[in-house]
Amino acid sequence: MSGNGLCYLNSKKSVLLLTIAFLMCLIGPALLHSQTYSIHEKDKNPISPYGSSPALSPPDTDGEDADDCGSMSVENLPLPFSLVQEGVGLPLAQSEPVEAGFPYNFYYGNLHSHSTFTDGGLAADPGRCRSSQYCRGDVFPGDAFAYARDRGLHFLSVVDHNHLFDCHASLCQPWFPSGCVWNAQQVRGKYQQGLQAAQAATIDNTFVAIYGIEFGVLTTPTDGHVNIFDASVLFNWEDNSNPDYPGTGQFYDVFVGRSDYQGLYAAAQNQGVVGSFNHPRSVQEFNNFDFTPEGKNVMVGLEVANGPAFCTAEDQSCGGTRYAGDYQFAGSDKFQYALGVGFRVAPFASQDNHCFNYGFSTANRTVVLANSLTKSEVMTALQQRHVFATFADDRAQLVFSALDNTYIMGDTFSNSGPLTFHISVRNSVSPIDEIRVYKGIPESRSSPQIICSRFDTTDVDDCVLFGTPGEWYVYVYVKERNGAELWSAPMWITGN
Ligand SMILES: [Zn+2]
Ligand SMILES: [Zn+2]
Repeated sequence: MSGNGLCYLNSKKSVLLLTIAFLMCLIGPALLHSQTYSIHEKDKNPISPYGSSPALSPPDTDGEDADDCGSMSVENLPLPFSLVQEGVGLPLAQSEPVEAGFPYNFYYGNLHSHSTFTDGGLAADPGRCRSSQYCRGDVFPGDAFAYARDRGLHFLSVVDHNHLFDCHASLCQPWFPSGCVWNAQQVRGKYQQGLQAAQAATIDNTFVAIYGIEFGVLTTPTDGHVNIFDASVLFNWEDNSNPDYPGTGQFYDVFVGRSDYQGLYAAAQNQGVVGSFNHPRSVQEFNNFDFTPEGKNVMVGLEVANGPAFCTAEDQSCGGTRYAGDYQFAGSDKFQYALGVGFRVAPFASQDNHCFNYGFSTANRTVVLANSLTKSEVMTALQQRHVFATFADDRAQLVFSALDNTYIMGDTFSNSGPLTFHISVRNSVSPIDEIRVYKGIPESRSSPQIICSRFDTTDVDDCVLFGTPGEWYVYVYVKERNGAELWSAPMWITGN
């Protein structure tokens, strides 16, 4: 990550510094990329997320950074296994529950992508879709939503980088090709245009469009990227008083400091909106997963999978980086770590599209359980954590419920006596290898235990949480035979 730090440009006047930084932009990605595989090799045996000192997690192979030049230029990473064609012939993602009587529909989408308002929206061509292309594409939020909607995705979120609505103005030297100078009113106006595009693209019972920001930088190990969905105001820290350019000023509606995650959670709570932890590379990120009541309330998701941010495929053939699960390269499990800290996060699998392939670079999906496909239903379902995530499966229906569907994944409730769960998987692309149920203790900072493990079955009705007093989180993890994975949101249960 030191390469990223070197790339950060604060002095806008020194041509020499700019030149050095520009060169680092060119060679930094190559240096970072060359580290990728050596670190992966060391991570082949997954370590406990609670191991001694937080090891550097697998590198951010999605490469997306946006602090600066620091994004790695990532080729289309192949899937680490072949997508066996067992799924062929099954119906594509179906919203209605296959399991009779299950009282929710399933909606398949992607909560993380970027438009040319910041560093995305680039043609899906390896020559065009690269990192550090600030406002260089021609795909605006409305175009991104239309693409995803026309191809049958149920929802898409475009989250442009909160500090790049000015097209990274620090690079706007006369000789620098991005050639952009934005004033404060234009910057804030772009954010409002994104919100309006989402409103215009949303069609009840067909498609939900969400606009928002990806907040933060990746300059130091305690930084991190956080999505904030559908806030009516722009959170930012930039007060860009560059004397070299006219019209600069406050590039925000609500000020939130550059690495002030506590402040961000409080600001999100004030606005009544929710967010997610993105590509959590190490447990040091987000100020060491700093835990506050506001953060517990507003942070509803954590990306168990992300990217590849610059994948140019439109046929779902890219893989993506996992931050949880059982795969040999996953390393420490950041989902379990965040749950152990006390965050009430659902798993998200995000594509982080920067190219014009919104929602179709991979078969990874975030799946929302709701009664109908409207903006308010989807936003409420996110707030309730009625969500599961898939890696390499664009159609599986995962059910995790208790007491005859009185409670489902994401719910918080009290219970006396033994509690028997109902778990089923339908419509998966490959047969089920294993269904696992984890039980952990929020705010314990300890690893969860596996309480049930069942092989070669799609249905589990004999997994019981015995009525031990205390607070528990319980979630389901599924491995398919072809390597695809599913994660449910936990239920948070108080045993009496
Ligand atoms: Zn990011
Ligand atoms: Zn992103």
